[in-house]
Amino acid sequence: MTTNVRNSGEKINLEDLLKANLPLAQHSSIHTGGSADLAAFPADFEELRALLSYAEENKLPVTLLGGCSNSLISDDGVAGLTIITTHLTRRHVQGEMFCVRCGLALDRAIELALEDGLCGLELLGGIPGTVGGAIFGNCGANGVQICDLLYYVDYMTFDGKLHRMQTHADEFSYRHSPFKETKDCIIYEAGFRLIPTTRTSEARKSKDEAKKKRKLAGQYDNPSLGCVFCNPAVGNAAELIEQCNLKGASIGGASICHRHANVIINGKGKATSRDVHNLTRLVQKTVFEEKGILLEPEIQCIGRW
Ligand SMILES: Cc1cc2nc3c(=O)[nH]c(=O)nc-3n(C[C@H](O)[C@H](O)[C@H](O)COP(=O)(O)OP(=O)(O)OC[C@H]3O[C@@H](n4cnc5c(N)ncnc54)[C@H](O)[C@@H]3O)c2cc1C
Repeated sequence: MTTNVRNSGEKINLEDLLKANLPLAQHSSIHTGGSADLAAFPADFEELRALLSYAEENKLPVTLLGGCSNSLISDDGVAGLTIITTHLTRRHVQGEMFCVRCGLALDRAIELALEDGLCGLELLGGIPGTVGGAIFGNCGANGVQICDLLYYVDYMTFDGKLHRMQTHADEFSYRHSPFKETKDCIIYEAGFRLIPTTRTSEARKSKDEAKKKRKLAGQYDNPSLGCVFCNPAVGNAAELIEQCNLKGASIGGASICHRHANVIINGKGKATSRDVHNLTRLVQKTVFEEKGILLEPEIQCIGRW
């Protein structure tokens, strides 16, 4: 197997990094799906670059995963190399800029920013997943979207080169980022222009409240991927699904959550990704037939579909 050399001269042993047939269900927030043919958890820039060059040399397709809280992994697994970013977690502060690697959990990043005396992201508290996944899908809650405070993104193209994108909120829209269009790159680091504060306890309270609201709504009670569909231009996906009497509907081990009709849960841990996918299609078809509205999935289907 190929070995690569770090800039510092320290060798990267790809045999240690690469894991064959890694089961992904345990990494997914809905606990379904098959294995990655090959997977790796790079912890720094050089490891990431070495993995990309290994994939290129061996003509392997590359798939990115962060916290896997918005991704439905195929039961037939993922071909090629799956790069899981959750070990890329460093952060630093430059003035009012909070700079963070893609794999840090978003909730932890908000906490660390507060420790650094910077606030602004608290209303996104409690959203599962990583900073990279949040930027890819322009996650949002309580009237805030992650793009609102984003200043730059350093992304790596699959040829191993690093580029900086100065971001503008108008390049993002509801659950959409420019990275959804150019899939062959990795969001590596993000810079958020935050607000310096000495009143961190108030900001922390607001974050804790956002998280508590989710807990009280039962969001963490069952394995799920959060909202399955985006809200249409007019109306609300959950309300439309409920009006079609689909609450509680199930296929195999997957069912529509009783508390939130736009969420599919794996309540007893027995669902397959195929069950979730089939239920998603049933909802889409029913809402279209009864309401004339085609709901667009918010979740990403990953692997061999
Ligand atoms: C209980 C619950 C509540 C939720 N609430 C919300 C909510 O309020 N608002 C909201 O917007 N979402 C919500 N979600 C959905 C999900 O948590 C977010 O979309 C989250 O930002 C996804 O991050 P992730 O790291 O888990 O992404 P993943 O599922 O790992 O990946 C999602 C997509 O991003 C790509 N990706 C991931 N990392 C990178 C990277 N570094 N570079 C390039 N591409 C990358 C993947 O290839 C994939 O296509 C919720 C989910 C759950 C389970």
